[in-house]
Amino acid sequence: MSEVRTLKVALLGCGNVGAQVARILIDDAEALAARSGARLELTGIAVRTVDAPRDVELPRELFTTDADTLVKDADLVIELMGGIEPARSLILTAIQNGACVVTGNKALLAQDGPTLYEEADKAGVQLSYEAAVAGAIPILRPIRDSLSGDRITRVLGIVNGTTNFILDQMDTTGAQFADALAEAQRLGYAEADPTADIEGHDAAAKAAILAALSFHTRFSLDDVYCEGITKVSAEDIAAAKDAGFVIKLLAIAEKISSAGDANGISVRVHPTLLPREHPLAAVRGAFNAVFIEAENAGELMFYGQGAGGTPTASAVLGDLVSAARRLVLGGPGRTETTTGHVPALPIDASTTSYYIGLDVADQAGVLARITQIFAEHGVSIEIMRQTIHRDTNSKVESAELKIVTHRASEAALAATVEAVKGLDVINSVTSVLRVEGV
Ligand code: NAP
Repeated sequence: MSEVRTLKVALLGCGNVGAQVARILIDDAEALAARSGARLELTGIAVRTVDAPRDVELPRELFTTDADTLVKDADLVIELMGGIEPARSLILTAIQNGACVVTGNKALLAQDGPTLYEEADKAGVQLSYEAAVAGAIPILRPIRDSLSGDRITRVLGIVNGTTNFILDQMDTTGAQFADALAEAQRLGYAEADPTADIEGHDAAAKAAILAALSFHTRFSLDDVYCEGITKVSAEDIAAAKDAGFVIKLLAIAEKISSAGDANGISVRVHPTLLPREHPLAAVRGAFNAVFIEAENAGELMFYGQGAGGTPTASAVLGDLVSAARRLVLGGPGRTETTTGHVPALPIDASTTSYYIGLDVADQAGVLARITQIFAEHGVSIEIMRQTIHRDTNSKVESAELKIVTHRASEAALAATVEAVKGLDVINSVTSVLRVEGV
């Protein structure tokens, strides 16, 4: 019987995710060997502080602060340090030494993924990063492998658990943004500095990765239009609810092929209204989900935990076993194909439906004047509802108008809203929000 090969595994980082990866590598060594066809030997764990307390008990002799030496003597390198440097240099060293790399570092991939993919291609090694988008949810491999015989047309993702938790709290309790954020921080769903989550930067990094794999083109963070959730008010949520919608922060990557010269991919992150019956509307709390539309497969949805040490470790180990199998078979296989050179389009070129809330004077002819402006700008109205608010003497206090449009371009919508604002019968524009799934 042939001897089972041993592959040396270097782990960089032993925090939330790294500690769980180390635990599984040690505890499940036999099962992992059976599945990958090789013994996966954890040769060392690089950290900043060797004696820092860890979430799990691990052999003291595995720890080192010398990440460079560890990486140079490994067949497989798992990078779970986070940040740009030294993670980037260590990954490049690993690749140049012929090691396959597994990482969960979305910030690095969104900033400098193309360099890393190119270096991995040149060296003929595998670079995998399932954990970088939506934690435990197997989403990148299905896009890259299972759907490689199809054409993806659109990806809609709830890929940031913190913002989904906050918006869900606002929707269920009527809380204002600041109170929902404080609750998320109290429960540990949001960090002390929540900027990367609430401003949409974390979701934007994941949008760039999803777009690149879905449309076989290299996109970076600079290609992603990004708007966070800090301006979403309790009033927006209530108005959306009243009209049958829920507000979600979506990462969207979609093919735009019929807007004049604008052939390309729109990659964007912004608060979005979804009909309450849309599958993504049912994604509650800190959960993540990715909804894919493909020409032949139709609609698909992937749902699960988007973060957390153990769930994310599951995605890391999946990548590791897959890389080990390929090493055993004698080749890395193709990790990712960049066959297209489709441009990323500016936000002005994308089209969606819109929800517009208006506080208007209760006068005869108001509706006609507003609809005329929409028609003049080529924005067609799908739903228009008026609610009259009266005081205790039944005297009209204000009138509220809720409009949902058919798909229109950002530019046409912006011009329409500007023109509407100029009407003397408009007290204020209370909301302008994008709508998907209608
Ligand atoms: P973490 O808890 O902050 O752990 C980071 C680890 O890296 C620590 O063990 C730290 O060492 C080590 N480290 C940092 N800088 C280092 C350096 N310069 N040299 C040596 N070691 C260094 O991070 P995490 O939450 O596990 O996340 C790791 C990666 O996974 C990140 O890229 C993150 O974006 C990604 N990810 C995380 C989650 C999640 O739920 N946490 C989900 C998906 C993806 P010390 O312990 O000695 O300080």
